[in-house]
Amino acid sequence: MSIPRILILSVWMSLALSLIVPTLRADEPDKCGYDAALSKQMLLDLGPHWGYSYDSLLIDLKRWQQSPYVTIDSLGASVQNRAIWQLTITSDLPVGDSLRQTVFLHARTHPGEVQAWWVTNEIINFLLSEDPFAALLRERCTFYIIPMYNPDGVELEYPRENAHGVDLESNWSANPVEPEVAVLRGRFSELMMSSAPIEVALNMHSSIRCKRYFVYHDEAGTSYQYTLLEQDFINGVRSYFPGGIEPWNYFVSWKSGTPNYYPESWFWLNFQEAVMALTYEDMNCSSAGKYDSTAFALLHGIADYLDVVTTIAVDRQPFRDGLELQQSYPNPVQLSGANRQATIIQYSLEKPAPVRLVLYDVLGRRIAVLDEGYRNRGVHRIFYNANNLAEGVYFYRLETVQGTRTRKLLIVR
Ligand SMILES: [Zn+2]
Repeated sequence: MSIPRILILSVWMSLALSLIVPTLRADEPDKCGYDAALSKQMLLDLGPHWGYSYDSLLIDLKRWQQSPYVTIDSLGASVQNRAIWQLTITSDLPVGDSLRQTVFLHARTHPGEVQAWWVTNEIINFLLSEDPFAALLRERCTFYIIPMYNPDGVELEYPRENAHGVDLESNWSANPVEPEVAVLRGRFSELMMSSAPIEVALNMHSSIRCKRYFVYHDEAGTSYQYTLLEQDFINGVRSYFPGGIEPWNYFVSWKSGTPNYYPESWFWLNFQEAVMALTYEDMNCSSAGKYDSTAFALLHGIADYLDVVTTIAVDRQPFRDGLELQQSYPNPVQLSGANRQATIIQYSLEKPAPVRLVLYDVLGRRIAVLDEGYRNRGVHRIFYNANNLAEGVYFYRLETVQGTRTRKLLIVR
């Protein structure tokens, strides 16, 4: 039986296509899913400046300033010389023996995505409250928050751009960058060089897809380890808002490598796994809401990721899936001379389960199985002798049927 000519032709065509396609690098999909007509309608529905203007911010700044927990600074100016304001929220108590951990949020890169601002507003109001969890977060962390990164765009009612008509979100590889990008990049750089570098950086947007989700960075543009950390972070946040936030694989970006023009690109290219830098997308549609639930989930997810776990946090919130994996102690592990010591890794289970605790190197190779078997409910402590490990970054991962947790281990000599 002879093969029909048309089939041979189509085989040849697909072969030709398969040779051409890889040379074409697909543009990154628009994470916010901008739509001009829907955006125009949103402006009409919400009123001037999408319902929250630069003047509204100035009024709120005065109100927030009454709180003993916040400091307000202008970091620099926009194209039209409006201040880019930063809130620093932390405790007025002296720092204990460990440094506070640094969290950075910025909102309204895209002025029309005001819903992400309403989430950020809930975060600010909660952090300034007398709630015990807020007090704990202030004690253990410093939150830097830029409520309005693109004030000119807000005032001009541009949905996405600054006063030069440039989309700041994808301007990070330009030379020179826009003034607003220069301000934010300068602040990020300053903090990354400080003794308390940024560990979580959230870029607050809202999507026309009318879903809440994180923009997940694929392994092709990051690393295997980073994707484990991303999944851990996103799963953690979601567990505090069941059904409210889409799973980590809802929106996967960076499938064809690392783009160089986003703020997250800057973090990845310079600091890799050290910073959990993600875009969060709220809902840019009329059914948006539940901003307080979203803020609650984000703050608890951040706290878990940073290991801000105490009896207060645990009492207030049931174990999300019965798993806790603590930061190893000491960290970093100092392996020099007589200082050699065992590393302690602690995890806890809410109910008995088969578990495996695995150590990976930075290339994702399995170095050791630290613990494996059926374990009882409660706290388990593993003592691991890291003497034979080379200096560098490692990851340890608790794997169970309920879920996984991954944390970083640093060895220095
Ligand atoms: Zn956006």
